[in-house]
Amino acid sequence: MSEQRQTFDFIVVGSGAGGGVLASRLARNNKNLKVLLIEAGGDPRSNVYYQVPGFHALATERPELRWDYFVQHFTQPALASEDEKYEAGKGIFYPRASAIGGCTAHHAMITVYPDPSDWDHIANITNDVSWSSDTMSASHPLASTGGAGPSGQSYNVQHRPGSVFNPFAF
Ligand SMILES: Cc1cc2nc3c(=O)[nH]c(=O)nc-3n(C[C@H](O)[C@H](O)[C@H](O)COP(=O)(O)OP(=O)(O)OC[C@H]3O[C@@H](n4cnc5c(N)ncnc54)[C@H](O)[C@@H]3O)c2cc1C
Repeated sequence: MSEQRQTFDFIVVGSGAGGGVLASRLARNNKNLKVLLIEAGGDPRSNVYYQVPGFHALATERPELRWDYFVQHFTQPALASEDEKYEAGKGIFYPRASAIGGCTAHHAMITVYPDPSDWDHIANITNDVSWSSDTMSASHPLASTGGAGPSGQSYNVQHRPGSVFNPFAF
């Protein structure tokens, strides 16, 4: 078999909420770019735990939909060992999705719109006005509805079935 070599302008590793969208935007915004998206997990579409949003809590721990990560949440081992998911020598069990779409494969269909100060902070530290709350409120589909938060902020929290990220729509 002859070895085939290809070159790419961008290689994105992981097709989750971050990588999937990034690869899609790169490829769609400039048709001349060659973009490779690498995903280590499988295609979850025929999995009933993926198909039914109400199963999200079960989906997170399905062996075929998860990577078994272990994390260190505490600097003091004694505190970590009190967690029911702690395993000696490994840490705290912290499964994350192994599937096309990453953790969007088992999210809870909740959208939380950030406070405007969060966007403005990002705009300030990046010196990029496209991150500003004004720009974001114009482009975010949830921004035109909703009300004030507990201390008068204008952020919005809404549940919109069907508006979730679809990694297969790109
Ligand atoms: C149980 C749960 C419920 C959640 N509910 C919500 C919600 O309701 N609303 C919300 O907005 N957010 C929710 N989140 C958070 C949201 O899903 C994550 O913040 C988001 O998916 C993170 O995106 P990411 O691209 O950084 O990582 P991920 O989505 O985790 O994607 C990482 C991808 O990389 C792949 N990968 C890993 N290692 C490799 C490798 N070596 N090579 C190739 N591919 C690799 C993985 O298989 C995976 O597909 C939830 C998260 C969890 C765990």
